[in-house]
Amino acid sequence: MDRRRLLQAIGGTALASLSGISAQAGGTDPSVSGWQNWSKSLPGAAGKVEKPTNMVALKALVSGAEGGVRPVGAGHSWMPLVPSQDTIVSLDHFNAVREVDTTANTAWIGAGGRLHDVSPELAKHGLAFRNLGDIDVQSLAGATSTATHGTGRNLSCLSAEILGLRLLTGDGEELEISAAQNPALLPAASVALGSLGVLTEMKMQLVPSYKLHRRVWFMPHDQVMAQADDLWAKHRNFEFMYIPFSGISMCIAHDETQAADTPRAADESDDGVKQLKALRDYLSWFPALRKRLLALAISGAPEENVVGESWNLLSSERNVLFNEMEYHLPAAVGLEALEEVRAYIEKNRADVFFPFEARMTQGDENWLSPFHDGRKISIAVHCYHQDDYAFLFSDIEPIFRKYGGRPHWGKLNSLTAADFDALYPQWQAFAALRQRLDPQGRFLNPYLRALFAPTT
Ligand SMILES: Cc1cc2nc3c(=O)[nH]c(=O)nc-3n(C[C@H](O)[C@H](O)[C@H](O)COP(=O)(O)OP(=O)(O)OC[C@H]3O[C@@H](n4cnc5c(N)ncnc54)[C@H](O)[C@@H]3O)c2cc1C
Repeated sequence: MDRRRLLQAIGGTALASLSGISAQAGGTDPSVSGWQNWSKSLPGAAGKVEKPTNMVALKALVSGAEGGVRPVGAGHSWMPLVPSQDTIVSLDHFNAVREVDTTANTAWIGAGGRLHDVSPELAKHGLAFRNLGDIDVQSLAGATSTATHGTGRNLSCLSAEILGLRLLTGDGEELEISAAQNPALLPAASVALGSLGVLTEMKMQLVPSYKLHRRVWFMPHDQVMAQADDLWAKHRNFEFMYIPFSGISMCIAHDETQAADTPRAADESDDGVKQLKALRDYLSWFPALRKRLLALAISGAPEENVVGESWNLLSSERNVLFNEMEYHLPAAVGLEALEEVRAYIEKNRADVFFPFEARMTQGDENWLSPFHDGRKISIAVHCYHQDDYAFLFSDIEPIFRKYGGRPHWGKLNSLTAADFDALYPQWQAFAALRQRLDPQGRFLNPYLRALFAPTT
């Protein structure tokens, strides 16, 4: 979310200076056991992070590695998909954009390419990703392996745009899965948590470059709830962020435009969060005053209207660390689940200050896609990284589960193999395929072994 409006609304930087938090650079921390995830919520991995520079080196690494091999992207997942005592392999050097086809709007892209580097490269060919999530620092393979999504009623998650992929399996075989080779495996391999092998290259469906008009505005939350379906239908991309303890939501819409670019304002997207934390720190004992101050500050806020290239507007930076749970819920009940979560938090958790995020994603056919059987509304709850987030598991997750939600693969959840088996019709088929491609379990770490090979 772009929180600049919130910053301006709540009134400058005075509160931020009281809040006692500062933006911290995300990413890996080489000083702690070689690797850590973005929010540093996972124990550092003891394994060494290897960065092969070409296919020969990658093959030698995979076939010669003692123990298991875990591929890593940008480390922006909260679930222990990557940590390993053995070898962690980064495809940072596999980032080329090749075989660009501007008639079919496709290209083969190196699996380790960071989305924010790939987008300007695509733009040189007049192409763009159809959609992006809140951030674009992830690697292509990392983002697609967990079904990373943005928002849009008729827009699917990034994995659904995969037309082909190349995978290095445990025995050093290069396997292509595409319309031309092994096409039946594509729905299984497109969302696979790095459990089938190391992705080296992916053929993506793209679209001609496009510009967006972004509008950001505040509305009473009950009005947003009443109009949400219409807003999702009206706008190419629509989402809203409910500001806890305020009764107000921030709406963000993007629509295609041919208008001239507007100047980019300075990126102050983290500052709004600092304001919210300051209000939490000083006024959580007095919720009525907290609510009144929030409402007062936001009431006069002007709209934001910006025009620019799609990839410049859809994603922004997140430099204040947080931990997050996000569930994808059947579209018919997603907002009901949000209201139950909101009621619970406003009654019981005055410490929560990050806005809750509500987005919509179209369904797709990939076996382990959380969007597998139709359109979903995704609801995300975030906690400041130094705050206790155990209540997400004990109190929030049961609400999401009651409404038939599936968790984001990269975000906090406590589900087991049996739970996923009940949620995904192709779970057993995927586990069998995984066993066939990786009989030695070389791509499993303890978390993935518990999911896919619990008896070994
Ligand atoms: C601040 C923040 C904002 C976020 N915003 C969004 C959002 O808007 N929408 C959304 O859906 N998600 C969002 N996420 C979640 C994030 O997109 C996913 O967790 C994503 O998987 C992270 O990508 P990564 O490159 O960091 O991959 P990692 O977290 O490093 O890895 C993720 C998975 O990909 C696998 N993998 C990585 N590279 C390869 C490879 N070459 N071959 C095979 N497997 C591989 C790993 O083994 C692992 O299973 C956000 C996360 C953060 C921290």
